[in-house]
Amino acid sequence: MDSLRLNIDYDDRTKTLYLYGSSITIHCHHYISNLLKMIDSSPYVDGGSIMYDAAEKVTIKHIGRVFEKNNITATDEKYAAAEEFFGKLGFGRLKFDIINGEVKGASSSVGFIPKSWTLKYGERPDHICYFTAGYIAGVIEVINNAPQSSYEVSETACIASGSPECVFVVRSPI
Ligand SMILES: [Zn+2]
Repeated sequence: MDSLRLNIDYDDRTKTLYLYGSSITIHCHHYISNLLKMIDSSPYVDGGSIMYDAAEKVTIKHIGRVFEKNNITATDEKYAAAEEFFGKLGFGRLKFDIINGEVKGASSSVGFIPKSWTLKYGERPDHICYFTAGYIAGVIEVINNAPQSSYEVSETACIASGSPECVFVVRSPI
């Protein structure tokens, strides 16, 4: 699939871009790396969880509209559209691992976030893709009509720590 239509509008009066009605910003690898460094450096705040939750929440808000606007109803097509949407937003390549209709995990061989980190700060000992994990959780929850936090996504390998790809595992609800 490479034909998703996205509703991106520009308000000339406020100089603001909107994606499905929500304001968005276009940023560079310096921005995302510094944001991650800030949220990851506090000993008092779990910044990774905040970023994960934000990504999950905004994905839940938008991905259903992507399916609706593109007349996508089949489950496998929804996952393919979510992979394409991730790429169109500039976050890289994402592939869901689906076995018997159930998502077991996902992987990303090209990722804007971990590549940005390594370009700016070099490799790190642990994973960094909180946003991608939250995105994956949000997609699965929307497709399964489940509320936020129904699925838990963990990153087990990351490009930012030397892995050839980022690997995510999905824990289904009990
Ligand atoms: Zn990663």
